[in-house]
Amino acid sequence: MRFKVMVLMVGLSLLVSMGNGLVGANTSRALQERQRELDELTRAIEEQKDALASTQRQEQGVLAELNRLEQALALSEKELLFLEMQIEMVSENIADVESMLEMIRARMQERGEALSERIRAIYRAGLVSYLEVLLNSTSMSDFLTRFDMLRRIMAQDAELLQEAEADHLTYEGKLAELEVNRHHLQQLQEEEEAKRVQVATRAQEREDHLARLNRERAEYEQALDELDRESERLSEEIRRLQASLRRAGSGSIAMIRPVQGGWISSPFGPRMHPILGTQRMHTGVDFALPHGTPIYAAADGEVIVSGSQGGYGLTVIIDHGGGVATLYAHASTLLVRVGEEVKQGQVIARVGSTGMSTGPHLHFEVRVNGECVDPVPWYQ
Ligand code: ZN
Repeated sequence: MRFKVMVLMVGLSLLVSMGNGLVGANTSRALQERQRELDELTRAIEEQKDALASTQRQEQGVLAELNRLEQALALSEKELLFLEMQIEMVSENIADVESMLEMIRARMQERGEALSERIRAIYRAGLVSYLEVLLNSTSMSDFLTRFDMLRRIMAQDAELLQEAEADHLTYEGKLAELEVNRHHLQQLQEEEEAKRVQVATRAQEREDHLARLNRERAEYEQALDELDRESERLSEEIRRLQASLRRAGSGSIAMIRPVQGGWISSPFGPRMHPILGTQRMHTGVDFALPHGTPIYAAADGEVIVSGSQGGYGLTVIIDHGGGVATLYAHASTLLVRVGEEVKQGQVIARVGSTGMSTGPHLHFEVRVNGECVDPVPWYQ
């Protein structure tokens, strides 16, 4: 009997310590990882807020409002992602606490059974109390044997009761933690809902602004002029950066098509503008593709621009050496930073509709010494 109880207890405590260790290690790793991602996202949100503030201070042109709406939208999208990650983290925590509670509950039940089994055994043997066991001694040595046995059993019972008491406290504590977490989760879910509404509203505001520009021809023409000036500014910036980098290159580079699939919705060269009815130069090639499609680096090189560029929206420019650079505009997400070395075929951004763009597409430019050339012969 005592042996059985001992075995049961040793077994139980082993099970308990193993269980605790496993749940703890896995969850804390997952939670740490989640926390690290959250910290990174918090930094990105702060950067976005700074960018938005400086846009509001600096820009004056027709595209300033579009740019501001875009940055506000990007900020809301990041904040939404932040909330989603927090929800995931709290949910994981809840699952963890629930499985811990389940384990303690099972342990408490088993211990209860062990104790009641002991009491039943004592009754079965006709020993209604510890004292009676001693009173029934037949000799001094029998008394000592019984006394020793009882002392051990009592110590074990006391230990079991202490453990039961400790478990009960842990159980209550975890139950309270669960309650707090559930409340937190509910709050986060409400915030998430509100943020979703904000994202939708801001996306609509951006659409409305573009539509208004399209309706008002003079404004639209001004916006396109701004885009041309932006293109000129980029030419100078590319030349300046290439001069400072002096990246070696032959001047003729074998490129790959920067996206898979899609069709060319607008080729390079002068084109009649559908709304204005006047000729405008198209400085690159447009690939119509779904939002989020990966954009690949056309060749090895160094990222010299990665950020919001007025009418170009979120843009990456890569210097390939020898005065050759490629430009990728209107992205929804940028995945590289200025100064980063990229390999041909590496995903550098995702297709979007930022800047002067009415639908998701990639505007791809090849520039030689800052000047735009037809990109098609470079990747074909
Ligand atoms: Zn274009």
